[in-house]
Amino acid sequence: MAEESLLKGRVNKQLWLLVAFTGATGSALMALLAGALVLSTNANEQLRNATNLERSLSEGMTSYRPLHDLHRQLQRAASNQALESALVVDRRGVVLAASNSALVSMPLQHVLQLPAEQPLKAIFADCPAQDGVVACLNQDRRVFLGPLPWLGGEALVTMRQFPLALEGLGRFGDRATLITVIDLRPQRNQALNFVLLVFAAGTLPLIFGCLGLLLLVRRKLLPELLNLAQIDALSGIFNRRTFLETAREVLAKAERVGVPCSLAVVDVDHFKTINDQNGHEVGDQVIRHVSQFLAGVGRSNDLVGRLGGDEFIILLQNPSAKAVQMLERTRQQLQVTPLRKQEGGVVEIELSVGVASTAGASGYNLEALMGAADAALYVAKDRGRHQVVCLELESPGEGSADDGWTVRMA
Ligand code: GH3
Ligand code: MG
Repeated sequence: MAEESLLKGRVNKQLWLLVAFTGATGSALMALLAGALVLSTNANEQLRNATNLERSLSEGMTSYRPLHDLHRQLQRAASNQALESALVVDRRGVVLAASNSALVSMPLQHVLQLPAEQPLKAIFADCPAQDGVVACLNQDRRVFLGPLPWLGGEALVTMRQFPLALEGLGRFGDRATLITVIDLRPQRNQALNFVLLVFAAGTLPLIFGCLGLLLLVRRKLLPELLNLAQIDALSGIFNRRTFLETAREVLAKAERVGVPCSLAVVDVDHFKTINDQNGHEVGDQVIRHVSQFLAGVGRSNDLVGRLGGDEFIILLQNPSAKAVQMLERTRQQLQVTPLRKQEGGVVEIELSVGVASTAGASGYNLEALMGAADAALYVAKDRGRHQVVCLELESPGEGSADDGWTVRMA
């Protein structure tokens, strides 16, 4: 049925949105987790590397060789490795040796003012004042610089005290502070590339997994679920909710393309008596019997539903005259096709039908159409039952009744 495909389309759209949402959220979470893991592992490794670098540079500080040897060692280290700069500061806060010769003999406070040495400021950030910088020299520190310092960053600044024993310099027990600035950008970029790779590699299975699940749901579960959600269990036709939702869409579409529609409310006459005389089980069989008949009234794009109890509703894409004719034919056919009871005997079934059409005052508004069809059904019951009644609003000046409604009988 066309309406069924409308409903399927709606559910499919929601499923696709769900897959897109799940895929995007899952991938983003995975990327965040993978990123945090890789970056923190990378940061730990950088700290280990920094300790090794400090250890190898500190050997030069206790070499008993001239100071300019240490100076050259720092320069070599800075040109060969990721080391951006390195300096050895004595206990008075004066630079003894540095990868940048211009800094030698300069007080640390002055070095910190130089624009090129700004990364150094990070390890002295907690020192109480400028003169406190010297007091801070006896502390070990490691600071990552960059937007996420707790996960590593673009540079690592370290400070650590080592014994000092050089030719002609330093007495026994003397110490000096080694400060290094290590450039981490290449490792950071490597880590980010790895994260992207993990993200891409993880996203594909996630998307394929979701797609597989979607296909499974669409092929196997969706038809069953749709059936359960849409169909009235007793009668096998649309339940009230699905009928109303679908009818609203069909009416909106019909209004756009100018197709006239008619809405019929159908009620079994004296159903209580059928129940009382034959039992509830037979009453149920009557509901199924009537549903099958009504489902065959119109074309495949017409809608049939059970409103509840012994009341049914039909939306036909026909003008009122044609709809009344079709409904009357069905009513008469049902009259001559009684339900055959299993235990023998028959139950004769009569219907009363109220019809309203979009050509009337109600237009394509579902609630207004239902109100008018209900009123027509009331008239049909009032006029002795087993008949089809159509209420139409007469145009002014045609000598209509007081309330403007004209009753058209089949
Ligand atoms: P009328 O000609 O005016 O329509 O009279 P009626 O006896 O048909 O009255 P009404 O339409 O109000 O009857 C509804 C009855 O349908 C009342 C209730 O006991 C019965 N009923 C409602 N749902 C079911 C059902 O699922 N199965 C059966 N067997 N009976 C039901
Ligand atoms: Mg009834």
